[in-house]
Amino acid sequence: MRKIIHVDMDAFFVSVEIRDNPDLVNKPVAVGGSKQSRGVLSTSNYIARQYGVKSAMPTSIALQKCPNLILVPGRMDVYKLVSSQIREIFERYTNIIEPLSLDEAYLDVTECKLFDGSATLIAQDICSSIYKELNLTASAGIAPIKFLAKVASDLNKPNGIFVIPPNHVDSFIDDMELRKIPGVGKVTNEKLLRDNLRYGRDVKVLNLEKLISKYGKLGKLLWDRCSGNDDRPIIISRERKSIGVERTFPEDISDLSILNSILIEKLLPELQKRAITHLIENGIGKIGVKVKFSDFHQTTKELSINRIDEAALCELLKEAIGRGGGKKVRLLGIHIGLLSRNDEVEQISFEW
Ligand SMILES: [Mg+2]
Repeated sequence: MRKIIHVDMDAFFVSVEIRDNPDLVNKPVAVGGSKQSRGVLSTSNYIARQYGVKSAMPTSIALQKCPNLILVPGRMDVYKLVSSQIREIFERYTNIIEPLSLDEAYLDVTECKLFDGSATLIAQDICSSIYKELNLTASAGIAPIKFLAKVASDLNKPNGIFVIPPNHVDSFIDDMELRKIPGVGKVTNEKLLRDNLRYGRDVKVLNLEKLISKYGKLGKLLWDRCSGNDDRPIIISRERKSIGVERTFPEDISDLSILNSILIEKLLPELQKRAITHLIENGIGKIGVKVKFSDFHQTTKELSINRIDEAALCELLKEAIGRGGGKKVRLLGIHIGLLSRNDEVEQISFEW
């Protein structure tokens, strides 16, 4: 039986701002872009939320709901620093840490010997250390499986913990609304409600095959979660150094213009899509093209540049192909190298 803690900082960005500027205490505050620049909110504090202000809401609408809202621009470098300080606290308890974002992480404390191995006391100690040392509050969920730990961290928010002990897992899931399951969004939930599926117990009694035929992959996920099956491990992820997309062709290609159009029309949009979330936290340091030839020899051409540049990628492709001396191409990939704190080089790429 595993012991998993999901720690989630309360209104993280905005809490850091209020901590660092006492003038903001007890006022409705949000971090986000200005109304003039058609910005959206990233985070708002709990006072602002009472007015109906929410994350991802356009600033103009938030100001209609809460005219006194104080808007502050984000300071990503500060949030990253605080995030690393939080991580240092986590590391006193376990090395098995999976960050989900700057303010949220799963911790596997199964092997932690502190507090006689009580995950509840460990979670309490983590939250009080964060409060004492960083003057910020966090909430935590404790459960034997991952998704329940995440569901639980939301239940006594802010500044609270919630424990789902192993012998309560079944009854908790029975009474849990399906919309709480990570991966079940608003649209999915409405569809489930139309089928009279609201709680875990409604799904549990159904036939797995029928669920899959009706909901596909989601059907399997729902059934697994509602049956208490979630053996996904905590993934100890290192900082991502690059993002790449690549494609292996069914038949080797020798025509440069075809490779060019695959790069521009297929690979580039996919790379841009994947880059969006990471570029909030990291800048681009370089771009590159990878080519694998029909004889499996591989070459990479890179350029130091701070943006994704289509013409430059096409030029890199041309140079890389030139190295093949007329050999056909079996795989083409493009990537961006992200700037990092220590600038080590590591490649993580996605297979299509
Ligand atoms: Mg949070």
